[in-house]
Amino acid sequence: MQKMPNIMRWTLALWLSVIPLVGPASHAAADTLIENVSVLPMTGFGLQTNWAVLVEGDRIIAAGPRSEIAVSADVERVDGDGGVLLPGLIDMHIHLHMDRPPAEIARDLTLYAAFGVTTVRSMWGSDGQLELRVAVVHENQFAPSLVLAGPGFGKTFKSPDELSAMVAQQTKAGWDLIKVHWKPTAGQFDAIMAAAKSEGIEASGHVPYAVSLDHALTSGLRTIEHMDGYIRDMGAEGGPASDAALQDAAARTKAAGAAVVPTLFAWRLYLREADMDEVMAMPDLAYVAPAVAEGWKGRYSESLMTWAKNWAFALIGERDVSAIAANRQRLLRAFADGDVAVLFGTDAGQPYVIPGVAAVREMLEMQDAGLTNRQIIASATAAAGRHLDPSGNLGVIAPGARADLILVAKNPLDELQTLSAPLGVMLRGQWHDSTEIARLLSAITVR
Ligand SMILES: [Zn+2]
Repeated sequence: MQKMPNIMRWTLALWLSVIPLVGPASHAAADTLIENVSVLPMTGFGLQTNWAVLVEGDRIIAAGPRSEIAVSADVERVDGDGGVLLPGLIDMHIHLHMDRPPAEIARDLTLYAAFGVTTVRSMWGSDGQLELRVAVVHENQFAPSLVLAGPGFGKTFKSPDELSAMVAQQTKAGWDLIKVHWKPTAGQFDAIMAAAKSEGIEASGHVPYAVSLDHALTSGLRTIEHMDGYIRDMGAEGGPASDAALQDAAARTKAAGAAVVPTLFAWRLYLREADMDEVMAMPDLAYVAPAVAEGWKGRYSESLMTWAKNWAFALIGERDVSAIAANRQRLLRAFADGDVAVLFGTDAGQPYVIPGVAAVREMLEMQDAGLTNRQIIASATAAAGRHLDPSGNLGVIAPGARADLILVAKNPLDELQTLSAPLGVMLRGQWHDSTEIARLLSAITVR
């Protein structure tokens, strides 16, 4: 592990002082039994009534009918009060901006956890994240587990040799994956992909502007973020894409074994297809510092939007954003119909995409696109879990799986909105009830 600069130690100490600690990580906890619940295990079975889940350390050790689970006398019991227990949500595309006051970073982490997002994949690496990933687990913070893409290569790289060295360095430093951005040339992209392959590290991200979708797919890009590369590839920016083109895109993706992270809500904002008055009045903004919200407002102001649109049209030609938005929805549906791995992601951390709170917003967008609630929840649990942990021990309720759980009032297969108010969250085996969650949320409510 690299030596931490002093400033980093200081910052880390500050984080530790502002992120809620929820008890010693290493106490010899009794097993926890969550009972009086229905369970949605996301292992291929539907809702199981009158089940219980037994947890030891950070692992599920049993899940089944209550009568079949033997427990010791000192087991800690959680009464689920007839609610529905499902795996914690996994957000595969977030941004954890580290150039902010520690309290702001802590607020993000609290929001994810409070809204049942128990794992996040940060898609842009920056200083302090590797240390934070460790602290979250070791200090037992009320925060999701972090999966970290390394720093983007930006415009700073030049030769293939330099790129190989950077990929090797990021692998050695412990980043979980390499982030591919829009900007590399075809040669640079090839160098990144070759180096990632030889280092045995995942490379995921955008389809760079300079390469075709097929080039990206056959090069082994594992997850493709935002779907914009598909819209470009299909030339679907000026009118409706054909069904054949959509199905073909899905078939090529399936054949390549790549997964797609759609980020519909964020992209409706970027495309200016969202009603900005409505967005700026979202109750979610209760968790955003007023100065930050003002900054966002500026970025989405009418005059700036008009300027940006004219600039973009002059540069790349006129686009029909409504057609693009509609094609994005149809494309997502084609992926789901074509059995492509769709992985849930919000792009949280970007303006108006608020950590944790954005999860249900994104789910409702996916529902609008025509996905079933089961497909949507699978994208945020079992499917994302399988991508991050191919052994199958993440994103499901089954013996051996990490004990990341959410308790909600209703069956989310019938009603996704029930996920917006968790009654309890288990993070790596530690249970947090609704009273505690409410207290933590009220402590970070700013208006
Ligand atoms: Zn992003």
